Amino acid sequence: MRRATKIVATIGPASSTLEILVSMIRAGVDVVRLNFSHGKAQDHIDRATMVREAAAICGREVAIMADLQGPKIRVGKFEHNKITLVVGEKFILDSDCEMGNQDRVGLDYKELPRDLRPADVLLLNDGLVVLVVDRILGNEIHTHVKIGGELSNNKGINRQGGGLTAAALTSKDMEDIRTAMSFRADYVAVSFPKNATDMVMARQLANIAGEPFKHRPQMIAKIERAEAIPALQEILDASDGIMVARGDLAVEVGNAAVPALQKRMIKMARASNKLAITATQMMESMIVNAVPTRAEVSDVANAVLDGTDAVMTSAETASGKFPVETVEVMAAVCLEAEKSEDYRLDADFMNVVFTRIDQSIAYGALFTAHHLQVKAIAALTESASTALWMSRHNINIPIVALTPNVATQRRASLFRNVIALELQQSTDTDAVLKGAQDLLLEKGFVETGDMIVVTWGEPMGQVGGTNALKIMRIGEY
Ligand code: PEP
Repeated sequence: MRRATKIVATIGPASSTLEILVSMIRAGVDVVRLNFSHGKAQDHIDRATMVREAAAICGREVAIMADLQGPKIRVGKFEHNKITLVVGEKFILDSDCEMGNQDRVGLDYKELPRDLRPADVLLLNDGLVVLVVDRILGNEIHTHVKIGGELSNNKGINRQGGGLTAAALTSKDMEDIRTAMSFRADYVAVSFPKNATDMVMARQLANIAGEPFKHRPQMIAKIERAEAIPALQEILDASDGIMVARGDLAVEVGNAAVPALQKRMIKMARASNKLAITATQMMESMIVNAVPTRAEVSDVANAVLDGTDAVMTSAETASGKFPVETVEVMAAVCLEAEKSEDYRLDADFMNVVFTRIDQSIAYGALFTAHHLQVKAIAALTESASTALWMSRHNINIPIVALTPNVATQRRASLFRNVIALELQQSTDTDAVLKGAQDLLLEKGFVETGDMIVVTWGEPMGQVGGTNALKIMRIGEY
C-alpha cells in the first residue's frame, strides 16, 4: 500500500545515529526537521550530513527542514534551575534580573514590560503556569500566580490573545539561515510570523544566504501567533506552505479554538496552492510509551481527513524512547485514514478559473485520470509546480513527479500524494516518454497494458511551462 500523507520527523539526541535514521526513513519519514531552538550550528550541519547519507542508503530523496527558533520569549535561569509557584503568590518578571529565585526571574526579551498592561494573562511553559499582571514598574512586571506549578530555566512565555511586538527574525535566526543554506536545507520554517512582510524578509535573507550554493529554499510559515490568523491569506500568498504549530498557537488563542482553525488553515492552504503541515503533540505519549493513545490515533487520522500534506513529530522522535515505532504507527494510521477518503473531484473544481497554461494542463490531467481511472499520473517537471497543483485535490491515483533535478525531488517529498523520481530529460520526446514508462514499470506503479496520463512541456528538454498532455498505454514504447 502506498501512503499519500507525508511524515515530517524532528530529529535530536534520540535519533541522531545513522542506524536509527535509516530505520526511521525506512519506516516512512519523508522530511527531516532540524529544530534550531536546540543545539549548535555544527550539530545541525552534522545531522544534515547524516540525513543525506541515510537517505542515500535507503535509495530515496528526503527533504530537510530547518526550523528557526524565532522570537520565542523565555524566562532566564534560576539559581537552583527551577522553582515551584503557588496560587496567589506574587512573582516578578524582571528584565534586569541576572539569576532567578523564588521572587523573580530575568527575561531574554528586555522589551516585554513595554508590551504588557495590568490584567494581561501570561502563560508560561506552554500554559502549565499562569500569571496575571498586577502592574508594571519600570523593567519589572509584577504578577500574581493564577495557576501554580514548576517553572524551570528558559521556559517560554506567551500572552493570552497575542500581541507581543518582538520581531519575527532574530539575529540568531539570521545566523541559522546561513547555517541551513550551507547544507542546502530544502525548507525553512519561520517561527512566529505576524504578516506577509515577515515571510518576504525571511525569504529574501534565505535567498541571499543560499546564493553562493545556488540554492533557494521553500519557505514555511509557522502559524502560532494570534495575529497571524486574520493575516493568514497574505501569509499564505508570501509563503510556500504553512505549519499549523498547535503548541504556541493553542497557548495564544486557547486550546478549544485550535481544531476548527486547523481545518480552516489546511483548507485555505490547499485552495491557495500551498502546503500544510499539522504539528505538535500528535503522538505525544509515545515519548515514553511504545503505543499511542486512542486520542492521538484519532488526531493523526483527522489531520489526514482534513487534507494535510504532512503530519509531524516533535519530541516523540527527537528525544523520545521510541522514534522508529512512532513513525511506523503514524504511517499505519495515515494509510488507514486514507482508505476511508471520499475520492470525488471537489465540486468547486468545476468552477476554477485557469490563469495559466500549465495549471490548465495539471487540472486537465487530474480530470482525465479520475474519469478514466488510470493507474498513475506522470508529471515531467523541472520545478514540481504541476505536481503541486495536481496534489491540491483528492485523487486516489498516484502523482509521480519525474524530474532531472534532485532539489525538486526533495522538495516534492512534502507534497501529499506525490512521489518524486529522477528521470533525465532530453530533446527526444519519444525517448523521454519511454524512459517514464520504464521507470513506472520498474517501480511497480504500472503493468504492461495499464493506462497513464503524462504531462510535459513542449519542446521537450527546454526549461519551460507544461503545455502537453498524453494518455499513454504502458507497452506503447
Ligand atoms: C509549535 O509551537 O507547535 C511548534 C511546532 O513550534 P516549536 O516546536 O518550535 O515550539
